Amino acid sequence: MIHDSVRVGRWVARFRRMRLVLVATAIAFAGLWLFGATAALPALAGFVLVTLAALIASARGDIAPAALARDEPRAPRVGDPLIEAVLAGLPDPVVALDRRGDVVALNARATAVAPALRPGEPVSLGLRVPEVLEAIRRARASGIAQRVEFSERVPLDRWYEVIVTPISSPGVAANPGLVLLAFHDLTPLRRVEEMRADFVANASHELRTPLAALSGFIDTLRGSAREDPAARERFLPIMQAQADRMARLIDDLLSLSRIELNAHLRPDKQVDVGAIVRQVADSLQTLARDRNVEVKTLGSSAPLLVPGDRDELIRVFENLVENALKYAASGKRVDIALSVGEGPDGKREARIAVRDRGPGIAPEHLPRLTERFYRVDVSESRAQGGTGLGLALVKHILNRHGGRLTIESAPGQGATFTVHLPIAGAAPTGGNSNLLTRA
Ligand code: ADP
Repeated sequence: MIHDSVRVGRWVARFRRMRLVLVATAIAFAGLWLFGATAALPALAGFVLVTLAALIASARGDIAPAALARDEPRAPRVGDPLIEAVLAGLPDPVVALDRRGDVVALNARATAVAPALRPGEPVSLGLRVPEVLEAIRRARASGIAQRVEFSERVPLDRWYEVIVTPISSPGVAANPGLVLLAFHDLTPLRRVEEMRADFVANASHELRTPLAALSGFIDTLRGSAREDPAARERFLPIMQAQADRMARLIDDLLSLSRIELNAHLRPDKQVDVGAIVRQVADSLQTLARDRNVEVKTLGSSAPLLVPGDRDELIRVFENLVENALKYAASGKRVDIALSVGEGPDGKREARIAVRDRGPGIAPEHLPRLTERFYRVDVSESRAQGGTGLGLALVKHILNRHGGRLTIESAPGQGATFTVHLPIAGAAPTGGNSNLLTRA
């Protein structure tokens, strides 16, 4: 029943579609009959014949409208809402070109990468990268996707990978209707690769120096100083110091990689950071006396509880206080002040400020101090037994604790390294910033 009504409906629709042709045919045959050019019967037969032919042709058109549409691919147009919507939904910068290589559409991310590209203009006008233009040519000629990399130097070093994908309609593969350019930003990946390469180069260099010194002394002791006990007594402590330096370096490198491995795991134990600081200060008293420096811990001795890893936090404060003793002994005094303040998120945080009165650090060095192997004065750091990894370790440990390090210094005015550690479950401070928390 439904089937029949659908069929009737289709025929009615066909009549409606053909009505202009049918009326014109009826007028033509009626005219011929009226002016005596033909008899009534042939005129009627002619009208019926044309009507039937027109309806049959129209019925064929109904059978496979989709097939017809597919046989005639529509050329992509600038402003096509479907293409624009698809590009806008893609996470990467993407540009769509037509078969001539003119830009059909580009998403906002692509505009940021290639701001000179304009819809309706040839891609070569706005993207002057020969490798990419050549890849587009190859993709259009072969119908096969192409991949190229290119880099920009200005305004900043950036690296991109471009995937050029020809999108062809069935049966017209040799002449793709649309070509898509998808850009992937490789810059972060390249930076990490460069950092790794730099790190390996730096680490090898740091190890090679004491190693070369050691083998030099071994050669001397075997050769010219073979029978010279005085030389042996002089060389052995130096050799010991070089071996210690290598051991420290390896120790720091291993600690760094272990902390990096656990970077995503926040410590869940509660530790009293005040007690840790006092323990570190006590353990460094001998070194402080050797350097003729007074180390003082200021602030309440009430427990200051933070979620933390005890050994890692000991490492943090050892590094900071040792640095103060190594590089700022001339200031004669190091203060370690404990307090509670308000963090950037408005929550309470423990603050431990290690302040020296040494030569201070010029402002241009401050942002780089926590980089691996960065030193203000390489020879002084080596002379003090430094590895250049101390502050990098501090930064990584604090990151894992959800904390941070701030450095204030000016030449001639000493330096203050402040550790900020979130207090577990801390509520906003309400402006009370200098009280110690009681657990
Ligand atoms: P190092 O093993 O060389 O001590 P760090 O990462 O601990 O490595 O420190 C990096 C550099 O920061 C040091 O080489 C030194 O130049 C500088 N520095 C660190 N602490 C101080 C300080 N308290 N006063 C002056 N300079 C400092």
